[in-house]
Amino acid sequence: SLQLVWLRSDLRVHDNTALAAAAERGPVVVVVTPCYPQWRQHGHGANKLDFLRRGLHVLQQALAGYHIPLKVIDCDTFAEIPEVLAALCASLNVAALHFNDEYAINEQIRDAAVRRRLADLDIRLHHYTDMIAFAPGELLTGKGDYYGVFTPFSKRWHKDLVARRLKLAPAPGVQATPLDPHGQAIQGDAIPPLPHDLPVPVDASLWPAGEDAAQERLERFMTFRARRYHEQRDLPATRGTSELSAYLALGMISARQCYAAVLAENGSLSDGDVGLTAWVNELIWREFYQHILIGFPRVNRHRPFQRHTEALAWRDDDAGFDAWCEGRTGYPLVDAAMRQLTSTGWMHNRLRMVTAMFLTKHLLIDWRRGEAFFMEHLVDGELGANNGGWQWAASTGTDAAPYFRIFNPTTQGERFDKDAEFIASLVPELSSLPAKRRHQPSDEDRHACGYPRPIVDHKAARLRALDAFKALSKGN
Ligand code: FAD
Repeated sequence: SLQLVWLRSDLRVHDNTALAAAAERGPVVVVVTPCYPQWRQHGHGANKLDFLRRGLHVLQQALAGYHIPLKVIDCDTFAEIPEVLAALCASLNVAALHFNDEYAINEQIRDAAVRRRLADLDIRLHHYTDMIAFAPGELLTGKGDYYGVFTPFSKRWHKDLVARRLKLAPAPGVQATPLDPHGQAIQGDAIPPLPHDLPVPVDASLWPAGEDAAQERLERFMTFRARRYHEQRDLPATRGTSELSAYLALGMISARQCYAAVLAENGSLSDGDVGLTAWVNELIWREFYQHILIGFPRVNRHRPFQRHTEALAWRDDDAGFDAWCEGRTGYPLVDAAMRQLTSTGWMHNRLRMVTAMFLTKHLLIDWRRGEAFFMEHLVDGELGANNGGWQWAASTGTDAAPYFRIFNPTTQGERFDKDAEFIASLVPELSSLPAKRRHQPSDEDRHACGYPRPIVDHKAARLRALDAFKALSKGN
């Protein structure tokens, strides 16, 4: 009997729990429900949507190799999905629907509505934990609460993993569905183009879509960078990280495949090579923030994790915000980073922290404005990690950076971009200056290079931020 697999942020054929489980039960049809207007409303911009659209084309071709048709239902809103899926199930005479869980609140509401609608039709529904190793709720503190701090979460993650190693075994391979010589061939559908009013995305060759491209990146990372990850991961001028985030966000690669690559090299996820285990730690951050979405639903609703920070007196400063967005704050590392984001759809992690802290502390602008701007530009934009990262930088989140620990953007540059190579590559106005002056151009340098003066003074801005945080009365 026909099994319908609904793919969402798991756009791959290999090691896909839902797809593998469905294929064991019978012939499979895959459906996707691109929902561009709704995704726009959730803040995703052209870079991510274009990557996704290209990923759907690659997926369709890959599925064709298994004789699996890809049905495509173009929707405007999530609210339409229960009905269109029900209609598809009825027209194909589907026995069961399978999908891998997603954890952001709107996706949860959507899936609950689908579950109710299919129950009316007596169609079985199977859902799976696939994006992360443990479903939210599986890892709780001794008191039965969700972890709100990363380190104990990660310890628990490792501990339980050892106990349940099997969890990380890749899903069995999918066999080609035999073509039914008597049955009606099920036609696949065309992938809808992006909405016309979307800005032009960044060069598609920066982000080749699909699982083959993702596997190539993983292999390159494991071969050339992984063992030096701990030394190089903070250096934006060096390609020291995996650059897999966009692929993980849309499931063109599974986290299990990443863990398996580490296990193959190192035999352990927690001991042994420092570079490899440092990388695993970042993958666990990704999992942690998915658990946070479920455990602390307010973070899905633009609310701070730390409730007492609700009252923080953020500044209205459109001119400052625009300067930040456009990379003309007069702080070379911040400007280089913002230009990296807008020109490539990605920003190095160290710089996400520096720029987010600059916006929320030096400019004292609400983290939600920065979060939205990142989401609009990131090819890897994902609610859990983006919200988590922003709230961390703003000292409103889990593991919140203590509010008095404010990065100095100039010394961050001197430390992590020693020769100011990264700055030179993205702020060409400054590239003719010697490295030291690229970090700290004099007034004359700025004038001669056509580069702006700092929009705020570091010391004064720091004190202003400290005052704003001190004014908050503590306690949740
Ligand atoms: P690697 O260093 O190779 O890490 C491997 C993978 O681990 C990443 O691909 C990613 O999936 C995960 N990861 C790494 N660091 C983190 C982290 N701090 N939190 C959660 N997951 C992590 N990551 C996103 O995937 N999407 C976002 O929208 C996003 N927004 C961010 C916003 C801010 C303000 C900050 C500080 C961080 C944000 N991150 C986000 C986390 C991190 O910056 C990126 O995942 C990382 O830079 C991606 O590069 P990479 O794939 O080379 O990472």
